[in-house]
Amino acid sequence: MYDVIIIGAGPAGLSAAIYAGRALLKTLLIEKAADGGQIASTSEIENYPGGLLEDESGQTLISRMSEQAARFGAERVYNTVESVDLKGDVKTVTCPGVEYSAKTVIVATGARPRPIGCENEDKFVGRGISFCATCDANFFRNKEVFVAGGGDAAVEEAVYLTKFARKVTVIHRRDKLRAAKSIQEKAFANEKIKFIWDSVIESVDGDGVLNKMTIRNVKTDELTEIHADENDKVFGLFGYLGLLPNSALFEDALPLENGYISTDEDMKTGLPGVFAAGDIRVKSLRQVITAASDGAIAAVQAEKYVSDI
Ligand code: NAP
Repeated sequence: MYDVIIIGAGPAGLSAAIYAGRALLKTLLIEKAADGGQIASTSEIENYPGGLLEDESGQTLISRMSEQAARFGAERVYNTVESVDLKGDVKTVTCPGVEYSAKTVIVATGARPRPIGCENEDKFVGRGISFCATCDANFFRNKEVFVAGGGDAAVEEAVYLTKFARKVTVIHRRDKLRAAKSIQEKAFANEKIKFIWDSVIESVDGDGVLNKMTIRNVKTDELTEIHADENDKVFGLFGYLGLLPNSALFEDALPLENGYISTDEDMKTGLPGVFAAGDIRVKSLRQVITAASDGAIAAVQAEKYVSDI
């Protein structure tokens, strides 16, 4: 029986593991893939306080967080949670072939990239379409790439992609970016970055790899075909259209708002002993620092709950 099971090892889950381990709670941290969640595929971290290390990336930051969680004794399991039973005093979390029990659960399952939503998208994911510039920019060295979206992630990753690609074009559905002004300024000052405004991607195509797409101007409905350069024979399309919450497991168990878990400011979900932290919560600012803060609060509240019972 664990004191706390934390589901998800992004910044929220890892911070919760650090605080829970340090409070000497018997802690299990379950992650289905690699640690870090979305931040693991972020090329540059500029706004995490104290994060002034040269070349700090999501990977470097997260690997130090993982090491810190291990140092405080959190046990680790890499497996996919299939179901949860969160109602009673003993909570159960089930992975293929194994069931774990705990007095408390912290849900830190985060969010995932929203698909581009165009025709043929699935056929070209990994064949030109990517949701991770850090992972895939290198495939497009000296080639042309497109970035769909206009938020912080789209514009920041467009700037990162200019280190690899010959030309980067941001396709955004409005004529104004949502990204923070400082990020916008970097992009506007970068000669390699061009913008296609008021447009969305309707369809993608190619012979095995992506080399053609059709975009639609949302104001005029005009369709424009974009073809890969003859020498390149392929172009990249990076999707940064926001996030979708990873909450399917909790649909029947917890109160959700548009798929996000509602909590109070102590990260309590309303079910005794069940907390949520990070991007999976209903909140106004989804950042590494707010995820880390949530994780710390959730672990301290879990510790209080365990000592009260
Ligand atoms: P976001 O801020 O939600 O931006 C999503 C972008 O995609 C918006 O520009 C939106 O257009 C566009 N979009 C959404 N649905 C679309 C659709 N169906 N078709 C076409 N365009 C669509 O998402 P994000 O940039 O991934 O960021 C997610 C969170 O992480 C945010 O809270 C962000 O602040 C944070 N973040 C922060 C940093 C940083 O601080 N350095 C870096 C990365 C991410 P509209 O603008 O028209 O709505």
